[in-house]
Amino acid sequence: MARGGLRVVIVGAGLGGIAAAIELRRHGFDDIRILEKAPAPGGTWFYNRYPKCACDVPSHLYSFSFAQRRDWSRICSPREEILRYIQGVAHDHGIDEYLVTDTEVSACRWDEAASRWTVSSSDGRVWDADALVVATGQLHKPSVPPLPAADRFGGESFHSSRWPDGFDPRGKRVAVIGTGASGIQFIPALADQAQRLFVFQRTANWFLPRRNRAYPAWLRAAISYLPGLQACRRRYIYHYAEMLTRMIRNPRTLGRIGGAWSATFMRLQLRDPQVRRKAWPNYTFGCKRVLFSSHYLPALQRPNVELVTEPISRLTSGAVVTADGVQREVDAVIYATGFRAIDFMLPMEVVGRGGCRLGEAWAGAPHAHLGITVPGFPSMFLIYGPNTNTSGGSIILYEEAQAAYIRQALEHVVTRGADAVEVRPEVEATSDRKLQARFKGTAWVQCESWYREGGDGRIVANWPGYMREYQRAVTRLDPSEYEFTYAREREPLGA
Ligand code: NAP
Repeated sequence: MARGGLRVVIVGAGLGGIAAAIELRRHGFDDIRILEKAPAPGGTWFYNRYPKCACDVPSHLYSFSFAQRRDWSRICSPREEILRYIQGVAHDHGIDEYLVTDTEVSACRWDEAASRWTVSSSDGRVWDADALVVATGQLHKPSVPPLPAADRFGGESFHSSRWPDGFDPRGKRVAVIGTGASGIQFIPALADQAQRLFVFQRTANWFLPRRNRAYPAWLRAAISYLPGLQACRRRYIYHYAEMLTRMIRNPRTLGRIGGAWSATFMRLQLRDPQVRRKAWPNYTFGCKRVLFSSHYLPALQRPNVELVTEPISRLTSGAVVTADGVQREVDAVIYATGFRAIDFMLPMEVVGRGGCRLGEAWAGAPHAHLGITVPGFPSMFLIYGPNTNTSGGSIILYEEAQAAYIRQALEHVVTRGADAVEVRPEVEATSDRKLQARFKGTAWVQCESWYREGGDGRIVANWPGYMREYQRAVTRLDPSEYEFTYAREREPLGA
């Protein structure tokens, strides 16, 4: 029986949407629809299928607390393993029946008179919902830079998150633009196969070691059979991740130790002085995502690979031209240029109370109370919303915590017989001010990155603290921070 007959529409069947659906279903909310653009659940792990795609967070932490596995193949699981895990968890928790795939949501509008959301898909279907959970993530809209004459390029070209099935780099001259977390995973594989590989780097990165070899049989057996070992590893990785955040939060002290550790590793890996000079970062350790790979820097020093740091000025029908006039002829261009992370669900049309568009409410920069609720948008909840990204931890922990918070909000709606719940504007404004103040002095504010909004450069993607702080902050929803509205008749129910 659905709690209070409350209908919930979740947008996005990635980890966040699935976490929300599982949490709600477990607590008796079972009138749920999950609208997903892709033909299958999995979110970013469905779309990203480039060679060697893997999580850079250890799987013992990058997994649901309630669905721990002991048979991960290696410390950071490959994409296929993660996708199987996500789809398996969804299936085991009865979520499949809620899924509506191949459905791109184009608009969500709050109907004030009826006190509900109307959710429309781009093919004209419509759903009504008493509560809307937007779980579209931060990393799903490819960002492709508008390079002059890019449309004239005659070879293959694609974004790393849209890797075509049949792409074969063997014998080809390939350009990769971008050297972030995605690019550095597949560049070593391309270097093995391509005849010539040009890596176009705009900003260098800090690296830490990770070989990510398959676990030997004895370790897999130990993790499988020794009681407590799995939990112990998860706890250890949790604290290790918190330590990385500590370094980012304290760039002048602990951050220096992290930087020295990274510099030592990079110095050992970068034997070629020319490549070393180009690949050496010139900004504070931890400002951008620290990258884990023992394979990338050696790949840059292969004879068939050139690291190019000169800015790209344009493309021609068969070449990439840099600002110094050098023309590098290529058969394929791969954009590893990241995502439009801080757009969040925009440009999807989201219209709240009084016809207010989310795009307008967020004109300065996206913001939400605890990254979850936005004033003026009743009964709308975000998963992986503004300021909930993590540079050092596992996003799944944040998403699970958000799902439990949203469930509490809906329980309050039901027990009070209310129709909607909305965060008080002054509460959101205060929490946002305090949150932004916590970035002061951290590494995050010491360079440009995709975590920041262009205008005043405020950080919009990341949480400024530790995983444990976020988990604590959302453990218990404080109803005094919210306004409950009563527009329609509804039977109050017991909790
Ligand atoms: P990214 O980290 O944003 O990297 C994009 C790269 O493209 C950067 O090197 C960037 O340079 C470059 N770039 C962007 N625009 C450019 C332009 N106009 N000209 C030249 N270069 C340009 O994107 P990503 O590698 O796809 O990773 C995004 C996020 O996804 C990561 O930070 C991480 O959170 C997540 N991710 C996670 C995993 C995982 O294993 N968990 C794996 C992949 C990705 P600048 O640095 O100068 O901007």
